Amino acid sequence: MDARSSVNLPARLKPEFTSLPPIICFSHLRWDFVLQRPQHIMSRMAADRTVFFFEEFIASDSPEPYLEFRPCRKTGVVAIRPRVPAAFGEAQRDEAISALLDQLLSIHRTARPVLWFYTPMMYRLAQHVEAAAIAYDCMDELSNFRFAPADIREREAQLLKHADVVFTGGHSIFEAKRCQHDNIHPLPSSVDRSHFERARTVKGAPPGFDTPPGPVLGYYGVIDERIDFDLLQAIARQRPDWTIVMVGPLAKIEESDLPREPNIRFAGMKEYSELPDWLGSWDVALMPFAINESTRFISPTKTPEYLAGGKPVVSTPIRDVVRHYGELPAVFIASDASEFIKACDAALALAKKPETFLPEVDAVLAELSWDRTCARMKALLADAIASGHSRRPVLPRPWARSSNRASHFDFIIAGAGFSGSVLAERLASSGKKVFVCDKRPHVGGNAFDFYNEDGILIHKYGPHIFHTNSDEIFNYLSRFTRWRPYEHRVLADVRRRLVPIPINRTTLNALYGLSLKTEAEAAEFLAGRAEAVEEIRTSRDVVISQVGTELYRTFFEGYTRKQWGLDPSQLDKSVTARIPTRTNTDDRYFLDKHQMMPLNGFTRMFENMLDHRNIHVETGVDFEDARREARAAKTIYTGPIDTYFDHRFGELPYRSLEFKHETIDQRRFQPVAVVNYPSPDVPWTRITEYKHLTGQVHPKTSISYEFSRSEGDPYYPVPRPENQEIYRKYEALARQQNDVLFAGRLGTYKYYNMDQVVGQALALFRRMNIPAAAAAQKVSTLNGHETVGAMRTAG
Ligand code: FAD
Ligand code: UDP
Repeated sequence: MDARSSVNLPARLKPEFTSLPPIICFSHLRWDFVLQRPQHIMSRMAADRTVFFFEEFIASDSPEPYLEFRPCRKTGVVAIRPRVPAAFGEAQRDEAISALLDQLLSIHRTARPVLWFYTPMMYRLAQHVEAAAIAYDCMDELSNFRFAPADIREREAQLLKHADVVFTGGHSIFEAKRCQHDNIHPLPSSVDRSHFERARTVKGAPPGFDTPPGPVLGYYGVIDERIDFDLLQAIARQRPDWTIVMVGPLAKIEESDLPREPNIRFAGMKEYSELPDWLGSWDVALMPFAINESTRFISPTKTPEYLAGGKPVVSTPIRDVVRHYGELPAVFIASDASEFIKACDAALALAKKPETFLPEVDAVLAELSWDRTCARMKALLADAIASGHSRRPVLPRPWARSSNRASHFDFIIAGAGFSGSVLAERLASSGKKVFVCDKRPHVGGNAFDFYNEDGILIHKYGPHIFHTNSDEIFNYLSRFTRWRPYEHRVLADVRRRLVPIPINRTTLNALYGLSLKTEAEAAEFLAGRAEAVEEIRTSRDVVISQVGTELYRTFFEGYTRKQWGLDPSQLDKSVTARIPTRTNTDDRYFLDKHQMMPLNGFTRMFENMLDHRNIHVETGVDFEDARREARAAKTIYTGPIDTYFDHRFGELPYRSLEFKHETIDQRRFQPVAVVNYPSPDVPWTRITEYKHLTGQVHPKTSISYEFSRSEGDPYYPVPRPENQEIYRKYEALARQQNDVLFAGRLGTYKYYNMDQVVGQALALFRRMNIPAAAAAQKVSTLNGHETVGAMRTAG
């Protein structure tokens, strides 16, 4: 038989059927095996696109390899079975199947296909295909299964490297894999509710099965090494009045492996359509899984099915069952035979009063639907296909050089960071002509980001996360960018483990092997360690008074000494007070109302802000050079204030940083954007992985190691009383000047976050009292659309 001659595609599978790329789904489970996640998802995918379900090969007697097509009339999915001569060795077989796949693609001459995998073992067959996108729907940790191929982990690593999007069938497996991919989503299996609800009205035994006299407890699903047969046997022996019914095909085990007890009945595999009849005939549904490596990550689809059928469920402690359903009164968790029997007794009693547990079950099930799961997958797949086409980086905008300098300006602004750019935009929108110069070769100040040579968006000067409680500041910046929601989480590398910082209950439980459950318990634990400090003045006092010396040493002492080159006892309390201590389990670094990243990066936001006919920007130009040529009535200076005044009262100390950027040929490097290294033995303070911040999906990842330095560009004012003394002298001198104003972190010597700098700049602009009438001007060109806005200028 030849692939072409055997094809009889349904009308809807003709190439013109849809503009969406066809899916070729590679699966180790056969289409007509038990109806599981692949079938639920692919039949829904087939509603608006062509789906080929490419199964594992079957050895044949034919001298030539060929494809067998099995169209499913109901769903439109075409199951494909490669038939390969039995005599072929592994390499020859793989080559033959790849060639058959190419044949299939050449028959189906449409767009590049989506390659969708249920098993990483089949990736090598298709890795040469130019795909619209590659998706991996990871249902289980297959490497833990019996007879798993020795190289399955290696193959999965390959697939993860090339997959554009990854779904997981449960939360436990998501947690196990999340560090290996940058576009991975937990999408636990769902339930065909109306199908299984039929079980609630079933009366009597299924056809051909006589009703046993006593209670009936049943299981359906694949029967393989994951079932705890010893447990089944123990229950059957201890409760001879119960009947245990096991429905489903045997896999990887023999009949002889099954326990033989008169009250355990193996009914064999049944059609999906028959399952409600079986389920309806039982009193209680079982999940007697062995607790071992092969079940560590499973997320059994049958849990919600059993519940939809109206049955109480007794399960061994499968993590995802406990996590998602363990709170329901209809779900009993039991570890050994005696607990299991007790749980079954309770479940049998409950089964008699369905009205007491079904409303709660139905409320939970109402949230689940395969249609919804599949719709989410379609959306994520569409994004993956689209981003495959748009991976080209956005290049920074070139700024004009000196052509315009000769004209007259109202303001010259030194520095194109937040403070300089916000003031430039406000003034320009009020009709003022502004010259902005920055000595760096770009705008954005310390928040500058750019696409590196691998096309990954990184922050040149370390991780910048926007967060604020101010609606005014957030709304103002929203004129120049759209946002991507992002909540920052930081882990600290201590005692060879990664724990949340700021210290919270999870941190305490992890470090001390505790199980503190409430805020009160955590507070009591901390109170037992906190040390009384008479007056909280320094950064050491703040921490010691909250968590005591040991935690202070673990998290703060080494980090702060590296970061500031000073002991915390030499720094103002405000420095470590930035990091709170929590008794709950909230592991976000910031709690602000708005926590966002600019959708297309900070630099693009700055470009939009500065894109105004009244603003002339020159980068790579020092203020001293610019002021010689450009004539302006006033200056706004956002560089270091002591530099402006030639250090006449002495130098203000600033802490500097050095960044070692690296791109690594893997998708993920660490579980969160930032990992802090408080240990004095590690030379860097933290490592940042930028893709967490930007949400970019890319086969490689970029990180930076951050080292603190005493010499170099000024980044941090150093909060110490004697430095404040020096600053006050400069501040007083600044007040006497009529032609210059100071703003920003360096200009006002304040350890300010971005939002505070924006707030400060907006307030300074208001104090300038520029007439309100002039303030309604073009504000920006966001995404190519001009927006017009008026800012409040008084007050
Ligand atoms: P800058 O961004 O420093 O801009 C000043 C500009 O002036 C510079 O570009 C400089 O080149 C230019 N300049 C100086 N002198 C001259 C001169 N003589 N001539 C021409 N140009 C000159 N804030 C947050 O809110 N969230 C964060 O996550 C966060 N992370 C940070 C991480 C790091 C590593 C650092 C250092 C800071 C972080 N910040 C963060 C703080 C944030 O960077 C600042 O609040 C903000 O950038 C300050 O803006 P600015 O305009 O005052 O100063
Ligand atoms: N800090 C620390 N250990 C940490 C995190 C922070 O000792 O794991 C101290 C350190 O002195 C740091 C200060 O807390 O400078 C403020 O931290 P934050 O993350 O706010 O600093 P940023 O990098 O944002 O300036």
